[in-house]
Amino acid sequence: MVLAETLYYLSESGLAELLDKLSHDNRVYLCAGEELEYRIAPAEASGPGPWRFSAVRAVEPLKSLLFAARQDVSSLSPVPQVILGAKACDLASLRIMDHVFLGGDFQDPDYKARRDNLLIISGDCTDAKDVCFCTFLGAKPYPESGYDLNLSPLSGGYVVQVGSDKGTGLIESNSGLFQPAKQDQLAQRDKNRADLTAKVERQVKAGGLTFQDRLDKLVGRGSPDVELWTRNASTCVECGACNFICPTCHCFLLSDMEDRSGFKRFRNWDSCQYKNFARVAGGANQRPRRAQRLHTRFEKKFKFFPDRLGQIACTGCGRCVEACLGKIDMREVLKELAR
Ligand code: SF4
Ligand code: SF4
Repeated sequence: MVLAETLYYLSESGLAELLDKLSHDNRVYLCAGEELEYRIAPAEASGPGPWRFSAVRAVEPLKSLLFAARQDVSSLSPVPQVILGAKACDLASLRIMDHVFLGGDFQDPDYKARRDNLLIISGDCTDAKDVCFCTFLGAKPYPESGYDLNLSPLSGGYVVQVGSDKGTGLIESNSGLFQPAKQDQLAQRDKNRADLTAKVERQVKAGGLTFQDRLDKLVGRGSPDVELWTRNASTCVECGACNFICPTCHCFLLSDMEDRSGFKRFRNWDSCQYKNFARVAGGANQRPRRAQRLHTRFEKKFKFFPDRLGQIACTGCGRCVEACLGKIDMREVLKELAR
């Protein structure tokens, strides 16, 4: 009998055995890579070898496994997937995605099928990128919920925490690989977590993110500071990278195409930073100016979602900071707003 609150130890070779077994029936993705090569890459692409996940989040957001950049939605064919090493910030983004695609009167059948068929074996961060600012938003660099199993790396193995019935079932059916965690292993995990949290907090503070203001008040709809948004949006080239790389951005366009087999309907990621994003029939456009669109992106993340879901739709992953061709840094805009 596996108890959800029980903590286990899994050796590196035990993890390899578990993942090799899972890869028979699942497409297994690994949050892996070095330096700027962090990707969610199919394990088969990197060949057999240790299933060692990266110290920090991947470049590619977790949403790609559930909501592809371009997807034929006229035929449903999701395959069971496993993600190994997903980080806390990406797990936080799934709550937003679940709300959008599953939380209303209509559930998106493709997203639901993929979500139901996704096994999440997450992992603690063991380092931070210089753009990470999760602790500023009240999060931690290790998962606290949203996973089936979570792995906290130690030398030679992992402390394993169970987060769902799926995770419990996985341990029960592979019980020979898991041992109860020892006190010294738990102490090492807690020390690693505290050290990294302190490192991210120092980085956040050194970057000037020290204010306590409520972000929904800073970016709320109330009379936006036109000069501030105009100045910050002046370098935007409307590439959409900030939206596409963001784990919580979810807007899409549908387009129909005909090929030899008949009509197909595709769902493609869309960007609220595109000039015609808000254009409606007849040609009217609510947000023709870049400043309006940049403000809308912030307003959606820091006001709209907190009002509706009680959660900021930004995880502090820093991906948009790295991706922006216009060098628009979300942290700097927030600092300006707080001044
Ligand atoms: S807005 Fe930027 S920092 Fe926030 S979750 Fe999206 S990509 Fe990450
Ligand atoms: S990534 Fe930067 S330049 Fe590209 S659309 Fe977003 S804000 Fe504009």
